[in-house]
Amino acid sequence: MKSFNIPDYYRSTVITPLKEFRRKRDKLKRDFTPSLLDFGPVRFYIARHFGFCYGVENAVEIAYKAIAENPDKRIFLLSEMIHNPDVNADLLSRGVRFLMDTGGQQLISFSELTADDVVIIPAFGTTLETHKQLSAIGLDIAKYDTTCPFVEKVWNKAAQIGQKNYTVIVHGKPSHEETRATFSHSKEAAPTVVVKNMAQAQRLACYITGEGSSEAFYSEFAGQFSEGFDPTRDLQRIGVVNQTTMLASDTQGIADYLKRVMIEHFVLSPDTIDEHFASTRDTLCYATNDNQDATYALLHYPADLAIVAGGYNSSNTSHIVDLCAEKLPTYFIESEQKLLSRELIRHFNMATKEEIVTENYLPGNDPVTILLTCGASCPDAVVEGILTRIVSFFPNAKGIETVMGGFQ
Ligand code: SF4
Repeated sequence: MKSFNIPDYYRSTVITPLKEFRRKRDKLKRDFTPSLLDFGPVRFYIARHFGFCYGVENAVEIAYKAIAENPDKRIFLLSEMIHNPDVNADLLSRGVRFLMDTGGQQLISFSELTADDVVIIPAFGTTLETHKQLSAIGLDIAKYDTTCPFVEKVWNKAAQIGQKNYTVIVHGKPSHEETRATFSHSKEAAPTVVVKNMAQAQRLACYITGEGSSEAFYSEFAGQFSEGFDPTRDLQRIGVVNQTTMLASDTQGIADYLKRVMIEHFVLSPDTIDEHFASTRDTLCYATNDNQDATYALLHYPADLAIVAGGYNSSNTSHIVDLCAEKLPTYFIESEQKLLSRELIRHFNMATKEEIVTENYLPGNDPVTILLTCGASCPDAVVEGILTRIVSFFPNAKGIETVMGGFQ
């Protein structure tokens, strides 16, 4: 895979060589077993796959290139480039400004922009409407467009389904930048509706079978369907695509469920299924699949706790947290600064969407075993910071050079 030029401070002298060691020995990515870093009184199982993906490295490279190439220009990011606070804070510190927040609310009016400014499109891509607005100002938005090719692949899949007269069902978080962009592109090719989870897929089934009225659909799916959508007409032929970072098993469950609904409602046989249901594989990206599979493999190893690093608004990271939390105490943290001491950790509670402080997160047994991983937008340097901070809480731990000796 292409290598990118990203600032050294996102790399790590521990994690980056460890990944490279594993990559060289498993170029076809068949081995999902974690790496064990054994410091004596504390040991870590590190997931086989995590951290900056193709799309994030591509976006980081382009953003820093934009800064280097335009010292005298105003540089704007359409919104957070990726969902990582360190990367976004560093860009802000270099004078880059955000035009919108992650929910799509305007922070700086487009009317303040001129054709001379630089606007960077984030890895999630953007809506066609925003594209048109920025182009109308005269901005060259293609120059620093960091839209991930795996997101564009979803747009292409939606267009293909649309050309065959299927309605596109997008499994995604309706307010997420990527899903908003995918919805915008998809609705140009086909009637489109977003479902955020299985509960909404089940509600959609009521409108497929005619149990729910059109009025109820418009109210229940407000903001999630394309203009002119008619549930009595547009739910006869459907196909499912998804936000690239959803949980694979959730998307599969929703696609299988909707397929069953269509088979039963339209009394379909294997030969006639495609008259009403487009056959698609999920449109998760390779990084989401690899990271989720590596997390399942990681969870086979007995441990006292799991630590997952990443931005709290990162979709792919939140799914990894969910997987870990089903099995063992799991702490979702942005960086090593959240490890307040040996006894206290400040971490994100996904249910309340707030940080909380938990006491005695590290048990008193010897050794303490920790599963450590992160999402696709988290720099290796953050994972290293977490690892070294925890090791520092164990005075008798082996030195990092000794432990890493086995990975050279
Ligand atoms: S998580 Fe996947 S879709 Fe998102 S930027 Fe990375 S490679 Fe692209």
